[in-house]
Amino acid sequence: MNVVINLNNVTKNLEKFSARNVNIIAISKTFPLNIIRPLIDFGHIHFGENRIKEALDKWSDIISLNPKIQLHLIGSLQSNKIRDALKIFSYIHSLDSVKLAVKLSVEQEKMQKNIKYFIQVNFENEKQKGGVLENEIKDFLNFCKIEKKLNVIGLMCIPPIDKPSEIYFKKLQFLAKTNNLLELSMGMSSDYLKAIKFGSNYIRIGSLIFGDRK
Ligand SMILES: *Cc1c(COP(=O)(O)O)cnc(C)c1O
Repeated sequence: MNVVINLNNVTKNLEKFSARNVNIIAISKTFPLNIIRPLIDFGHIHFGENRIKEALDKWSDIISLNPKIQLHLIGSLQSNKIRDALKIFSYIHSLDSVKLAVKLSVEQEKMQKNIKYFIQVNFENEKQKGGVLENEIKDFLNFCKIEKKLNVIGLMCIPPIDKPSEIYFKKLQFLAKTNNLLELSMGMSSDYLKAIKFGSNYIRIGSLIFGDRK
């Protein structure tokens, strides 16, 4: 398993199918640093994790040595872990509640931080997933941006597994456009080429780079 070759294959596919600049977030959750290391040495910038503690343990030293690295939180955030999350992540893709927005804004102020956010959208109201309902996005976005001064740059979704992802990529593209948001976090190993057709510019790739997770 050569993770650099795997990453380069994704890059080549992107160049073939899209002229835009698409950021590849290498989702390294569950994999130890020795597996990830070749990508760091190669100069890859964007990495994603879904657990705060795992991210702190794995990435704290690496990021102080390589300040260019940008870590993305792609999993749900509990409010008692906000401080730790702000220590290590440059982007949070799972902003999805008023309570979180309020606490993030307070802690950011205290820590003198201003990181980037995607609001997660839950199109089918799936209980096991986080996210804001489609018809609540506008109000929630205004609250986060205007009242809480959070730097919301775009929308994120994880489509239901039993339906074609294109439906949701198209909806997310439209929703972002109508709310004047420029960035889209959508597309994983199995469907990133579909996601870029609908304007995704942050794709989240785990298994295609690192192999199957246990
Ligand atoms: C794990 C995960 C990914 C990566 O999934 P792959 O199918 O391995 O590419 C992407 N997004 C989220 C939110 C994840 O939890």
